[in-house]
Amino acid sequence: MIPSNRVQDKNDRTPPLLPPRREFLKFFACVSAAGLILPPSITQASLRPNRITDLRVWTAPDHTRVVFDLSQMAKHNLFRLSNPERLVVDLLDVSLDVDPARMNQSDPVVTRIRTGTPSPNVVRTVFELNSEIRPRSFVLKATGDKNHRLVLDLFRKEFVETENVAEVPKKPNNSREAVIVIDPGHGGEDPGAIGFNGTMEKDVAFQVAKRMAQQINQTPGFRAFLTRTGDYYVSLRRRVAIARQHSADLFVSLHADAFRTADARGASVYTLSESGKPTPDRAINNLVQRENSADMIGGVDLNLVSDPEVRGILMDLSQRDSLNRALVYGKNLLQEMANVSSLNLHFNEVKQAGFAVLKAPDIPSVLVELAFLSNRKEEGLLRQQGYQESLARALALGTRKFVQSSRLV
Ligand SMILES: [Zn+2]
Repeated sequence: MIPSNRVQDKNDRTPPLLPPRREFLKFFACVSAAGLILPPSITQASLRPNRITDLRVWTAPDHTRVVFDLSQMAKHNLFRLSNPERLVVDLLDVSLDVDPARMNQSDPVVTRIRTGTPSPNVVRTVFELNSEIRPRSFVLKATGDKNHRLVLDLFRKEFVETENVAEVPKKPNNSREAVIVIDPGHGGEDPGAIGFNGTMEKDVAFQVAKRMAQQINQTPGFRAFLTRTGDYYVSLRRRVAIARQHSADLFVSLHADAFRTADARGASVYTLSESGKPTPDRAINNLVQRENSADMIGGVDLNLVSDPEVRGILMDLSQRDSLNRALVYGKNLLQEMANVSSLNLHFNEVKQAGFAVLKAPDIPSVLVELAFLSNRKEEGLLRQQGYQESLARALALGTRKFVQSSRLV
C-alpha cells in the first residue's frame, strides 16, 4: 500500500475548499493585466518543474477512472467528504497545467471537477459526486510514450471489484445456449496500435466485436457478451474473469497488429502456447510483449496482481483440453476469414504464444489479430463499415461451425 494513499473520514479532517479554478484564473488574469505578475503558466512552470500536464476521465459500467499525467512522480493524499459527497485529491509539489475545459466531461457519478491551491505547493482537485463511491488510487511510472500517472478509481457503491480470477463464481449455464465472450482489446487509457491516419486499435477492435456479437446473437442457440461495452480499460485478468462469470464456452479476443515495416499485412489467429516459452519467431514474441503490457499502459496497479496462475502458465488437464479445442476453433476462424474479399492471412495456421488474456484454464480461448494497422491499405479497410461487417460475419460463421461440429450445444 502506498503510505500517502489514505482515505479519511470527514470527521478527521475537513479542509477548506477553494473556489473553482475558473475564479482562481480570473484572479490571476486581473493581477496580470495590471502588470504585477506573470501569467500562472509561466511562473508556475519555472518555479516548480513537476506539472500536472493532463487529466482524463474514463467511464466504465462499475467505476470511473481519472488519470492525472505528471511530468515527474508526485506524492498525493486522498480523502472523502460527505454532505455533499466529494472526493478530494491533493498532489504535493506540483503545478497545474491543464486546460480546465478538459476537466468536465459527462459522467454518471462525477458531476463536476474543480481545482484550487490550499497551500503554495499543493494542487487540490475536488470531484463533486452525486452518490457515494469507494476510491482507490495508485501511481504508474512512465512507460513508452506515457508519462508518470496518478490513477484514481471511483467504484460505485453497488459494485465490488473482484481482482482474483479464482474467486469469480461461475454462473451455472442451465440454458442450452452456447455462450461466446468477445473481448475487444485495449480501451480507455490504452489505445493499442495506432495507424498512419490515427486509427486506434481499441476503436476498430470494439467496432468489429460489436458487429460480431450482433451476428452471433441473431443465431438461435447462441449468446454473445462483450468484455467491455465502451471506451474504458479492463485489466487482462478481469477480461478472463468476465468470461468465467458468463460461463463462456468460447473466448475470442480481437486486436489489430502493428509492425515496424509498413508492408506487413494480414490476419492471424493465436492460442496459448503449452510451455509459455518464447517461440522462435521474434515478431510473435514482440507482439506478445506488446499485448501483455496493456495493463501497464491501460493503468492497472500491477502490485495487485499476485495470483501466480495468471502470472505464470499452469498447464493442467482441463487447460490442455481447452487448448486443443482452441486450436480447432482458431482453424475454423482462419478458414472463414480466408473467404473475406481483400483479406490476406498473415499465417495460414493457428500460432501459439503466451498471451495473458488467453489464460482461462477451462475456456477455449483465441486471440485474433484482424489486420496490420501499420499497413495503410489494411488501416483503410479496417475503418470501412462494410469490411468490418464482412469480418464480423466470417468470425461469427467460424464460431458457429466450430460449436456445431464439436456439439457444444
Ligand atoms: Zn492489441
